[in-house]
Amino acid sequence: MRLVLLGAPGSGKGTQAARLRDHFGVPHISTGELLRAAVKAGTALGLQAKAVMDAGGLVSDAIVLAILEERLSQGDTSSGYILDGYPRNVAQAHALDVLLGKLGQPVERAIQLDVDTELLVARLAGRALAEHRADDNPESVRKRLQVYEDQTAPVIDYYRHQEKLTSVDGVGAMEEVFERIVEALGSRYA
Ligand code: ADP
Repeated sequence: MRLVLLGAPGSGKGTQAARLRDHFGVPHISTGELLRAAVKAGTALGLQAKAVMDAGGLVSDAIVLAILEERLSQGDTSSGYILDGYPRNVAQAHALDVLLGKLGQPVERAIQLDVDTELLVARLAGRALAEHRADDNPESVRKRLQVYEDQTAPVIDYYRHQEKLTSVDGVGAMEEVFERIVEALGSRYA
C-alpha cells in the first residue's frame, strides 16, 4: 500500500496517518517529523531547515527529497507506507513520481482530507496551546495556510489527473473520519 495523505495544516492528516499505520501495519512517514528530528539532532541540514519551518515556509525541495529518499530506502517500507506532508507542491509530486518510477513502485492512491479554512484556524489555535510547536504561532499559522492554498492545493489536481485522488470529508470525530478513509480505500485494502 503506497498512500499519499493530502490536507491543509490542521486537517488531521498526522492523526489519521498514525491510525492508518496501526490499521494496515505499514510505516507512517511524515516529512514534518523527519525534519523536526533533523532539527532536534542539530544536523547542518536541520539547522538550515529550522528557520524556514518556524516561519511557516517550505523547506527546499532538494533537502526534503534527500531526507525522504533516505527514509524510503529503509527496509520497513517494502510493503508500503503512508506518506504525510509530502508532496507539498507540484514539483515535489513530480519528483516523487520520478523516484518511485525508478523503483517500479508508483503511488497507488492520494487521499485528500477536506476541511473548511475556518475550522483549520480554530484547530491550529487549539494545538498551539496543547503542543507548543514552534510553528503554531498565529503568524506562522497564517503563512502555512497561505502556502497550502498557493502551492499544495494544486497537488490535489495533479493526482486527480492521474485518477488516483479520493476526497474524504475531514470534519467530524477522529474515529468517524478514519472510517470514511478506510471505506474510501475500498475492498482492495480491506
Ligand atoms: P503541518 O501539516 O501542520 O504544516 P508538518 O509537520 O507536516 O505540519 O510540517 C511542518 C513544517 O515542515 C512545514 O510547515 C514545512 O516548513 C516543513 N515541511 C514538511 N514537509 C515538507 C515538504 N514536503 N516540503 C517542504 N517543507 C516541508
